[in-house]
Amino acid sequence: MSKKVLVVGAGPAGMTAAWSAACHGAEVLLLEAGTRPGRKLELTGNGRCNLTNLDAFNYDSPGYRRNGKFLIPALSAFGPESVIRFFESNGVAISIEDSGRVYPESQRAADVVTALWRALRSKGVDAHLEESVKAVRPTGEVITTSRTYRPDSIILATGGLSYPQTGSTGTGLHIAQSLGHNIEPVYPSMVPVIVSERWVKDLAGITLPDVFVRLLREDGKTLARWRGGLLFTHNGLSGPAVLEIGEDAARALYEGNSPSLCVNPFPEYTPAEFRQRVLGSLKRAGRRKVRHALSAFLPRALVDHLLSAEGIPPDVTCAQLNRQQRETILPALHNICFQVIGTLGIRSAMVTSGGVSVKEVDPRTCRSRLVPFLYFAGEILDITGRSGGYNLQAAFSTGYLAGLSAARP
Ligand SMILES: Cc1cc2nc3c(=O)[nH]c(=O)nc-3n(C[C@H](O)[C@H](O)[C@H](O)COP(=O)(O)OP(=O)(O)OC[C@H]3O[C@@H](n4cnc5c(N)ncnc54)[C@H](O)[C@@H]3O)c2cc1C
Repeated sequence: MSKKVLVVGAGPAGMTAAWSAACHGAEVLLLEAGTRPGRKLELTGNGRCNLTNLDAFNYDSPGYRRNGKFLIPALSAFGPESVIRFFESNGVAISIEDSGRVYPESQRAADVVTALWRALRSKGVDAHLEESVKAVRPTGEVITTSRTYRPDSIILATGGLSYPQTGSTGTGLHIAQSLGHNIEPVYPSMVPVIVSERWVKDLAGITLPDVFVRLLREDGKTLARWRGGLLFTHNGLSGPAVLEIGEDAARALYEGNSPSLCVNPFPEYTPAEFRQRVLGSLKRAGRRKVRHALSAFLPRALVDHLLSAEGIPPDVTCAQLNRQQRETILPALHNICFQVIGTLGIRSAMVTSGGVSVKEVDPRTCRSRLVPFLYFAGEILDITGRSGGYNLQAAFSTGYLAGLSAARP
């Protein structure tokens, strides 16, 4: 007789789990609290959906910040190649960038949602929208807003706590906890930071396309570093490089540290090369204003701020700049530091770090080690990927494995 599998949550993990369980012979019911499936998935990759990364198979790659090792069996069962094959065979042509990032060729995340939904429906999954799971009893009964179910297995795929407007409100974490699971402390990941320097608001919207950022503790120890783009916001910093170290900033602040974030806008030059280029440029510029000459290197508004912070008059010409002024402005351009006083928090984070402790989940099946009928998939687990398709790959892989395992007689 086929197993009755109930999947909670129609995000990428839950939809994959429902499809996989149905493919492996189970009778599947998928319950989704929202009015439509995959609301967060629709937003991914700025609406383009970076659905995996060819490098994701390498669990030890920098792609996974937390518990990448847990994913080995799930990635072996359903890795990036399987994800690509799945979407191609469900009508989504794939495009792979040189970086290894994988997108739908249409660049439309909505196509990914539609493909998953159609695939699971074509396998006979019974899916109920606007039916929220309120509790799971230790006996295995599932209490929803409208009735009680008694499945053989339950897969919790309710996501984390970030972007709660998409349905990831953390109810699954409470349910897991009520069944005896430990929840690893939750931190925002892929999140912008807030800095104490008020002047950043004057630069809001300005980007630096390629910078090297370092997060430093008060004693100078480097906590994290990343290279990529930077965006000034009305109260801090964002952009790919900053998002990558946002979680480290959140953790440092929680631990009582007062971290600073230092930006090198010229990662391609050594300090000596940079010095030579800037000095050469100032020399050639002669009677031009310093602010104009330096705006060949950095946005004008940032140059103006840095000059004023170093006490250099805005209209001074390159020829008038004295040696001492030159020696102060050079390092100021090369190493711009900010005091981090917060992050935008879990609601604005792209990813939730923390969640159901993987120590209590069997990586070979995604089954709870504490509750025999319970399985987990996706961001509810304490697995955190970086930007690049790693989080969706984790959702697809754990969803597939949880579905397959839960369907086994
Ligand atoms: C703006 C943004 C961009 C992103 N871009 C990328 C990207 O390009 N690539 C990438 O790899 N990752 C990206 N991510 C991260 C990725 O979207 C998540 O890791 C992924 O969606 C997690 O999938 P999930 O199925 O575990 O959870 P979710 O997608 O959060 O889905 C959980 C589902 O469960 C439902 N639910 C919750 N509680 C209940 C309940 N009690 N009863 C019934 N249903 C319930 C919710 O309504 C929701 O539909 C992005 C995230 C954001 C916010």
